[in-house]
Amino acid sequence: MARVIYWFRTDLRLHDSPALQAALDLKPDVLFPTWCFDPRYVYEQRVGPNRWKFLLESMSDTSAAITKVNPKSQLFVLRGHPTTILPALLRKWKISDIVWEKDDDPYTMERDKAVEKLAKDAGVKVHVVHGHTLYDAEAIEAKTKGKPYVSYGPFVKILEGLPQPPRPIDAPSSLPNPGPTDLADLKRSEHSVDTWKKNDNNAENRDGEDKIYASFTGPDGKFSVPTMEELGMAKATGIHPGGETEALKRLEAYMKDKEAIINFEKPKTNPGAFDPAATTVLSPYLKFGALSVRTFYWRLQDVVKGTKHTQPPVSLIGQCLWREFFHYNMRVTPNWHEIRGNPICKYIDWRLDDRYDDKGEPIPRSEWKLSDEEKEAEKVLEAWTHGQTGFPWIDAIMRQLKMHGWIHHLARHSVACFLTRGHAYISWVRGKEVFERWLIDHDPAMNTGNWMWLSASAFYSQWFRVYGMAYGSNWDKSGALIREFCPELNKLPDKYIYEPWKAPVSVLKEAGVTLGQTYPRPIFDDKAAKAETQAKMKNAYHVNIHGDHEAVLNGTAAKM
Ligand code: FAD
Repeated sequence: MARVIYWFRTDLRLHDSPALQAALDLKPDVLFPTWCFDPRYVYEQRVGPNRWKFLLESMSDTSAAITKVNPKSQLFVLRGHPTTILPALLRKWKISDIVWEKDDDPYTMERDKAVEKLAKDAGVKVHVVHGHTLYDAEAIEAKTKGKPYVSYGPFVKILEGLPQPPRPIDAPSSLPNPGPTDLADLKRSEHSVDTWKKNDNNAENRDGEDKIYASFTGPDGKFSVPTMEELGMAKATGIHPGGETEALKRLEAYMKDKEAIINFEKPKTNPGAFDPAATTVLSPYLKFGALSVRTFYWRLQDVVKGTKHTQPPVSLIGQCLWREFFHYNMRVTPNWHEIRGNPICKYIDWRLDDRYDDKGEPIPRSEWKLSDEEKEAEKVLEAWTHGQTGFPWIDAIMRQLKMHGWIHHLARHSVACFLTRGHAYISWVRGKEVFERWLIDHDPAMNTGNWMWLSASAFYSQWFRVYGMAYGSNWDKSGALIREFCPELNKLPDKYIYEPWKAPVSVLKEAGVTLGQTYPRPIFDDKAAKAETQAKMKNAYHVNIHGDHEAVLNGTAAKM
C-alpha cells in the first residue's frame, strides 16, 4: 500500500498538475500534501513583503482547495529545511513514495538531489515529474547536447521539433486521507536554521521578530500557513492577491477579450498603464504555479485557432516561449546568476561589480574599500532603488515596483537599461538583486536572463540603443504613471511631467514643486552620463571581441 508525500513547491494549484496526478496514480492509501519552509527562502534569497504575502495567500488557497476536495486534508506546512525535515517525515509517517515537480533553478536542483539521495537511502521511491514549463528542459537538452541558445529563433525551431505540450488535465475530484501526523519527538537538530540565519538578506524587510522556526508545525501545532507576523515581515502594499482561485479568475477575464489576444504585440503595449495593465499580469501566478502554463498556452491556442493572429516573438504564445527560452538557458549555463565563470555573459567592467580574493572567493561587500567613484555609484544605486533619481519616468517605475511588486516589461527595460548600459554603468547583478527583492513574479531564470539581456551582457548586443527619460511619453503624454507614483509632481503640466528640470521656475512654483526639496534634482546630467557610459560600453565591447579583459580593467584597451 502506497503512503505518499506530495511535496508542493512552485506548483501551488490543483488544476493541471502532472506531478500531483503522478502521486494519485500510485493509488495511495494515504496522501500527505506537504510544504517545507526552506530557510534559504526566508533568509538568503531576497524576498520583500509583497512576495511573502503573495506566497502565503497562494499557500492558503491551495490548502483550502485541498480541504474542499477532502475535508480531512490540508496543506501540511512544516518549518525547516527540506534536507532535514523531509527525511524525518519519511521515517515518522512511514512513507513509501515521495513525489514533486521538477525545477531547473541551480540551488533547487542541488537541494532536490540531496533530498532524493536521502529518500532513496531510506528505501523511499522518488518520483520527479516535469510540469513547471511547457517543455521539459531536460528533453530539450537531449536535442541540443546542452548548448546554451542565445537567440530566440533557433531555440523556437528546436521546440518545433519536439512533441507539442500535452493538453491540460483536470483538477482531481477526490484526494486520499492523510495519515496521523504526529511529530512529537522530532529532535531540535532536525530543525536548526542557524547556518541560514547568519546570511540574512531580509532583515531590512522585517519590522518585527522572526518566529517562523519557533516550532515545526506552527504556533497552533496544526501545520498551518504562517502569517506575516510569524515572519516578522513589514506590511505589504501590493495589489495583486495570490492563489489559484485568483489566477483562474484573471485568466478567464483575459480570455474574454479575443481581439486583444489575436492582435497582441508586446512592443506595442503601454508600459505606463497600471489600472488595468496593458499585459496579462499572469507572471506571479505562473511563477508560483498557481496557474499552469499549459492551461494558459492551450487557452491561447484555442482562441487564435483559425484567425489571422500575431506570431512569436511578439504574440502572447511568443511570450510563453520566452519563458521556455530563459528556463532552458538557466538549466544549461554554468554560473547562470553570476558574471564570473558564466560562458554566455560578456565581461564588462561595471561599477560595483562583485570582487573576489586570490582564491576566487567572493569578498563580502561589507569589507570593500570604495573609491570616490564607487561611492558615487553607490549613491546612484540607492537613489535608483528607492525611486529618487530625479528622473520621473525611472522613479515612478521603481516606486511602482516597490509598492505593487509588478511592473510592465518595457518599464523593466527602461530602469534596467538606465542602471547598466544606458546611464549609470552599474553591474546588472546589483539591479537583479533589487528586482529579486521586490518583484512578486521573481523567477531566477527570467530575472537573471533579462538582466543579462538589458545590460547587453548576453542575448542582445545593441548596447548603443538606450531608452530616453521621456520614453513613456510615446504612449502617454500626460504621464499617468508618474502622476500616480510621484504624486508630488501631479500638478505639473503635461509638457514637463517627464522632465521637470526643464520647467521654468514659475511653472514649478505654480505646481508646488521645488527641485531638491519636494522632488530630487536629476542625480546626474542624463546626456553627459549617457555619453560617458556609451564610450565605456563601446570599449568593453571591443575588448570582448578581442578578449583582452585586463586592458578593460586597467583602462589601456584600444579604442574602437
Ligand atoms: P505578458 O506579456 O502577459 O506575458 C505572458 C507571460 O509570458 C508572462 O506572465 C511571463 O510568464 C512570460 N513572459 C513575458 N515576457 C517574458 C520575457 N521577456 N521573458 C520570459 N518570460 C516572459 N518575468 C518574470 O516572470 N519574472 C522575473 O523575475 C522577471 N524579471 C525580469 C527582469 C527584467 C530586467 C526584465 C526586462 C524582464 C523580466 N521579466 C520577468 C520578464 C517580463 O517582464 C515579465 O514576465 C512580464 O512583464 C510579466 O507581465 P505579464 O504577465 O503581464 O506578461
